[in-house]
Amino acid sequence: MTVVDRFLKYVKFDTESSTETGVTPSTPGQMVLAKELEKELREMGLEDVSLDDKGYIMATLSANTDKKVPAIGFVAHMDTSPDLTGKNVNPRIVKNYDGKDIPLNNEFTLSPNDFPEMVDYKGQDLIVTDGKTLLGADDKAGIAEILTAIQYLKDHPEIKHGKIRIGFTPDEEIGAGADYFDVEKFGCQWAYTMDGGPIGELEYENFNAAGVKINIQGRSVHPGYAKDKMVNALVIANKLISLLPANERPEHTAHYEGFFHLTNVSGTVDTASVGYIIRDHNRELFEGRKKLMQDTVDYINKLYPGTTTLEMKDQYYNMREKVEPVMHVVDLAFEAMTAVGVTPIVKPIRGGTDGARLSFMGLPCPNIFAGGHNFHGRYEFVPIQSMEKAVQVIVKIAELAANK
Ligand SMILES: [Zn+2]
Repeated sequence: MTVVDRFLKYVKFDTESSTETGVTPSTPGQMVLAKELEKELREMGLEDVSLDDKGYIMATLSANTDKKVPAIGFVAHMDTSPDLTGKNVNPRIVKNYDGKDIPLNNEFTLSPNDFPEMVDYKGQDLIVTDGKTLLGADDKAGIAEILTAIQYLKDHPEIKHGKIRIGFTPDEEIGAGADYFDVEKFGCQWAYTMDGGPIGELEYENFNAAGVKINIQGRSVHPGYAKDKMVNALVIANKLISLLPANERPEHTAHYEGFFHLTNVSGTVDTASVGYIIRDHNRELFEGRKKLMQDTVDYINKLYPGTTTLEMKDQYYNMREKVEPVMHVVDLAFEAMTAVGVTPIVKPIRGGTDGARLSFMGLPCPNIFAGGHNFHGRYEFVPIQSMEKAVQVIVKIAELAANK
């Protein structure tokens, strides 16, 4: 099977994850795909194939050299984002893309006016959606690429490599992909997530991240009798939001700039809740942002005594501090990309990856492009040539790791 055949097969599985269910995997559809992948891994003749009850898959391609070579891993996630449905994904291949608008259906058009990077792929073949679902290149492109590369290595025993481990995880999109990842069982010195975006991406820096929930207890009184009695929780919520720096929001920040992102507000006069996420690459600035959040809530409680409580929880940290001591891991990927004609684009992730948490669990794990664009929505697309290059990068990493 080609990388495209595999990809088109996997996107047909509805593996949308959910923050609502509280179980792992968060949705049964992920287990359906997991079982199919387990079967394929066995049919490919891989060793130590395992699928646990949480939906984590591991498998081994054994070394074919006597040289002492470090065991390395490749990781991808099976779930798709809850931001848009992944049910009945109906992909279409646009061959030899002409650089113009691509109508997805009667309603939605994928246009270089909105996504100027599309023109970089003129002459290539793009896989797009039918406008009703996301595509699922995040991260089924990664799964397809890893399996295609492993099959290639099996078919080409003249390429010497060490032990290669494969890890497929559930629930990455809800931030839980590393929760039950057994790093010890995986048994690798380092690994790569194949979960980046456009071709060339190579990432070992991500945000430090915290989640915030603010609860506000007001006092509801009939508005006609409210003078000096009513405490309106919605007004307090509004005040709190207005106190946080207006220019430090996702829509005004880029590169290494962190932010406060208001994720939800709900409530009545009686009670309100406000959700934020806090992000910053720099740990000190990150802690500073958390302090500002705490100070803001404290100030609100001075204005409106006893109304407001803050729950703030760290979610993940910047993997840079874990990867920098083993920079050869990044250098190897850089060298592999260059060797197959891909220009590496090393930049900080404005988000997190499973690899960030795995790095803190003892498995240094930079992120490599899977090739897709516009993840989590109907405008998602992936150039076939990018997926093919990702396959070559995996093969080359395996080869180079054995030559060091
Ligand atoms: Zn992903």
